[in-house]
Amino acid sequence: DAILQVQDLSVVYHSSRGPHTAVGDLNLTLRSGEFVSILGPSGCGKSTLLSVVAGLLPASRGRVMVSGEPVRRPRPDVGIVFQKPTLLPWRTVAGNVMVPIEALRRSPRDYAERCRDLLGLVGLAAFAEHYPDELSGGMQQRVSIARALIHDPALMLMDEPFGALDAMTRERMWLELQDIWLSSRKTVLFITHSIPEAVFLSDRVLVMASTPGRIVQEIVIDLPRPRA
Ligand code: ADP
Ligand code: ADP
Repeated sequence: DAILQVQDLSVVYHSSRGPHTAVGDLNLTLRSGEFVSILGPSGCGKSTLLSVVAGLLPASRGRVMVSGEPVRRPRPDVGIVFQKPTLLPWRTVAGNVMVPIEALRRSPRDYAERCRDLLGLVGLAAFAEHYPDELSGGMQQRVSIARALIHDPALMLMDEPFGALDAMTRERMWLELQDIWLSSRKTVLFITHSIPEAVFLSDRVLVMASTPGRIVQEIVIDLPRPRA
């Protein structure tokens, strides 16, 4: 029941200063329903790893499989949240949240209620018809989180999604997310700089080190959790 398999992955960047191995021979398997955090210093290759898993960056060597299929391009059935909000400025908040539904050619009508629920969950119920430039950066980031959840993706990739949020909002998001994991048991690969965040949310924490980026330690978080 592995939903994500990363096998002997290496990613080499080429620049004027020559090749730089950002990720070297990295192996990683996520079982269905697992919440796995990746913790590590800046520049150790976390975002590079996530970009390859997301299909946004090619592997130099090795392979990445999602649901048993090699990843070559972004898949609409995978939810992604980046460090910074990435909304379409010409669409309303609700319109942005509905983008994955349209990409998957599902009926927006079937998701109208879920859209409302998710906007409520991220504290933006009153902003469905507003445009991104009317919202703060933190609010825009919460729209991005709702958008990544609308199609109920089996796999979610999150790259420091709460870095830009204030501490209170961040802790509320932790609790809300736990409720979502509880009700739908998503598989999540979660990048963070925050040890408390990793420990609070994860089943496993993988620690990365740099040059080249690799996993040097695995910590199983064996706390009793209100999991379904
Ligand atoms: P992290 O997310 O852990 O901070 P990154 O994956 O962003 O790390 O970067 C890993 C390494 O690859 C760093 O040394 C960074 O400078 C380098 N790097 C990242 N993106 C590029 C790029 N587009 N071109 C060249 N080097 C890059
Ligand atoms: P845009 O400004 O991009 O045209 P719209 O408001 O027309 O955005 O909405 C685009 C999509 O979002 C449509 O699929 C529509 O069904 C859906 N949508 C719009 N408003 C809501 C809402 N309040 N609740 C749920 N879905 C909505």
